[in-house]
Amino acid sequence: MARVALVTGGTRGIGAAICKALQEAGHTVVASYAGNDEAAAKFKAETGIPVYKWDVGDYDACAAGIAKVEAEVGPVDILVNNAGITRDGFFHKMTKDQWSAVIRTNLDSLFNMTRPVIEGMRGRGFGRIIVISSINGQKGQMGQVNYSAAKAGDIGFVKALAQENANKGITVNAITPGYIGTDMVAAMPEEALKRVVAGIPVGRLGKPEEIAQTVVFLASDNGAFATGATFAVNGGQYMA
Ligand code: NDP
Repeated sequence: MARVALVTGGTRGIGAAICKALQEAGHTVVASYAGNDEAAAKFKAETGIPVYKWDVGDYDACAAGIAKVEAEVGPVDILVNNAGITRDGFFHKMTKDQWSAVIRTNLDSLFNMTRPVIEGMRGRGFGRIIVISSINGQKGQMGQVNYSAAKAGDIGFVKALAQENANKGITVNAITPGYIGTDMVAAMPEEALKRVVAGIPVGRLGKPEEIAQTVVFLASDNGAFATGATFAVNGGQYMA
């Protein structure tokens, strides 16, 4: 059944692939982004998907943004919490700003985005909440104490929220991608990236589309029995 899907960070990388795949699956898709207007305009021109700008770390901005989307497009039935950032560095050198930016964008965002939609989903008796966590939230990653903590927090959020809403037709799941070829990974030092790829049994980086198809399944009516789960899509790099 076609529904309204909102994808945060939907204008680039994994989020853009998720938007396109949900659109191909017949859903009415809306993408949010933070500030890269050029990428957002290009994405909108290519896909026809409407784009909305707000900071997922800001609760009031999320509540206002979601109200606007719901007024203009319709009630959000599928929420994909995808927006995320890294601010890497060893913990003994990490600044409070690096810590806070990552927790805010990758973890606080789950409250900020999900709280405004959950009551509507409960009232309508249907909802799909999908969180893009990370392999590094499962295994930990040196140089990413902030990111590993936030992404592990995402998984706890999913498990608890799934229990609270399972009897209301709402599923809540996490996907933990391994290393996927996007701007985020392109920002890694070349040598570090080579070492990472050498540790992936499939022998390559993942593609954004390979994450997107997992989202399409979880968002579908056939995904109704999957809830509170963590879906690893990582080329065999980590088998938790
Ligand atoms: P990209 O850096 O390619 O894209 C990030 C997207 O998130 C952009 O659309 C960006 O908007 C948006 N965004 C960033 N900060 C905010 C904010 N504060 N408010 C609203 N939107 C924001 O990231 P990826 O596609 O690589 O990653 C997507 C998700 O997948 C993230 O949660 C990431 O942690 C996770 N992930 C990625 C992996 C990878 O290998 N790439 C591996 C595991 C997990 P704008 O364009 O305006 O900046």
